[in-house]
Amino acid sequence: MSEELKKEERSLNFLEEIIEDDLKSGKYKSIVTRFPPEPNGYLHIGHATSICLNFGLTKKYGGYTNLRFDDTNPTTEDTEYVESIKDDVRWLGFEWKNELYASDYFDQLYGFAIQLINKGLAYVDDSTSEEIATLKGTPTEPGKNSPYRNRSIEENLDLFQRMRNGEFADGSRTLRAKIDMAHTNMLMRDPIMYRIKHAHHHRTGDKWCIYPMYDFAHGQSDAIEEVTHSICTLEFVPHRELYDWFIEQLGIYPSHQYEFARRNLTYTVMSKRKLLQLVNEKHVNGWDDPRMPTISGMRRRGYTASALREFCDRVGIAKRENSVDLGLVEFFVREDLNKTALRRMVVFDPLKVVITNYNGGDAGEEILHSENNPEDPAGGEREVPFSNELYIEREDFMENPPKKYFRLAPGQMVRLKSAYIIRCDEVIKDADGHVTELRCSYIPESKSGADTSGINVKGTLHWVSVKHAVTAELRLYDRLFRVEDPSSEEGDFKEYINPDSLTLVKAAYMEPAMRNAVFGEAYQFIRKGYFVLDKDSSTSGMVFNRTVGLKDGWKAK
Ligand code: ATP
Ligand code: MG
Repeated sequence: MSEELKKEERSLNFLEEIIEDDLKSGKYKSIVTRFPPEPNGYLHIGHATSICLNFGLTKKYGGYTNLRFDDTNPTTEDTEYVESIKDDVRWLGFEWKNELYASDYFDQLYGFAIQLINKGLAYVDDSTSEEIATLKGTPTEPGKNSPYRNRSIEENLDLFQRMRNGEFADGSRTLRAKIDMAHTNMLMRDPIMYRIKHAHHHRTGDKWCIYPMYDFAHGQSDAIEEVTHSICTLEFVPHRELYDWFIEQLGIYPSHQYEFARRNLTYTVMSKRKLLQLVNEKHVNGWDDPRMPTISGMRRRGYTASALREFCDRVGIAKRENSVDLGLVEFFVREDLNKTALRRMVVFDPLKVVITNYNGGDAGEEILHSENNPEDPAGGEREVPFSNELYIEREDFMENPPKKYFRLAPGQMVRLKSAYIIRCDEVIKDADGHVTELRCSYIPESKSGADTSGINVKGTLHWVSVKHAVTAELRLYDRLFRVEDPSSEEGDFKEYINPDSLTLVKAAYMEPAMRNAVFGEAYQFIRKGYFVLDKDSSTSGMVFNRTVGLKDGWKAK
């Protein structure tokens, strides 16, 4: 593991330091945080960082966390997203105190706007968005006052009321805060508080045709809920001044905003806008495609909630932008699955082995036993039938092997996992010289657990009995993008999609215990990787997703 990780483990993160100081000084008795998603897409692993952080802090220091949907943008939001977000937060293992919606505060926010108008701190502007942009100035040049800036309070009250009543067209007027058009912070140059949008809202329906801007909704929502530590990502640093200004002018609960660096991961994209493009343009099969960095995608792929929580906690948070290797997520997934996954034998690309000296009694077979999980002493065993016709992996045989090849080759011996030692006696080929079958003999005294043969072999292979095998489709996933940071490359990020991000094994041969595979259970296909049953499974066939390989395969390439 990296140095950076070890360091993070030792010390408190900067937010924990702030909170410990606040509690010690008596500024707060307990803390309140919120996780504030906009319901305009599915949550991704970046959001998981924010969830673990917000819920983790109140778990550690006492208090609670609200789930607040930041739903002030009627045209992009949908209840489908609300439901998926709730599912994902619960699946990650967190329960919110209150389920809240910024839209529930529309009346209060409207009242706050009237308060500011009455204080002479807000005005209705008839300028078009182009005119507003022109008068805004640049970071090095001050802006100019709008010609509508000095309207009387009465006129502003009247116009704002009429905006609300629906008398004006979209975009024809805005309500702006009256701050300072020469302010060094561009966001303080009379920011827009309300815009006109005749749009249906997923919760308030057609009640409103004016909607508050993020900056006029977020801090006030925090204040209404008495959030003590409002945590967001670094791009909101310049917004903090405005956040404080509104709270101060309105004299409401003094919530404070703190910022940390977004979680970025290599070989993927994380903005919802980009993820939506991947879904809409069918580069992936929906938001929960197992290649997506969404929480629902990772869950379907077989990542566990505990591995994701562990990833978020151990990687920690930073004050500067950085990027974490996707391989690190996989490291935590593997670490977790190794402890819990049931071991099973599955042959991806079969080569038939006939054991010529095995008759297996009347039934022609015997039942062997194999541990479910060597890491878990309480994990028990399963039955594995053995017979004289087996499949091994084609890649586990070589006709002309190099030195120190410990798998099967003519005249060479290997152990079949939890079964016997076999020796390859004869190689059968078809007319094209293609190997179709191996004739082998087994050593009866070499049975696993009762081996008296005295023979030492180095290689152990997985196998399945032909007549007992169950077939299934396997979906092997690789990184969705072939470059580390697709968003920073030239051209469209979609040009960098990895064409081999999905490989299908149409019919793999599984040991019969896999007949009882259940959703949500993790399996380690021995020597192959970790797998879970996919929701596309039906009575006509099982489908498995490869969660992750046994080792980091990407680096090797
Ligand atoms: P995106 O840019 O992916 O669309 P967003 O910031 O618009 O994300 P929101 O729904 O507004 O998404 O985010 C909800 C919360 O999650 C916010 O507090 C936001 O700061 C946080 N968040 C979003 N993306 C990340 C990320 N990559 N790392 C950490 N926190 C994030
Ligand atoms: Mg957002």
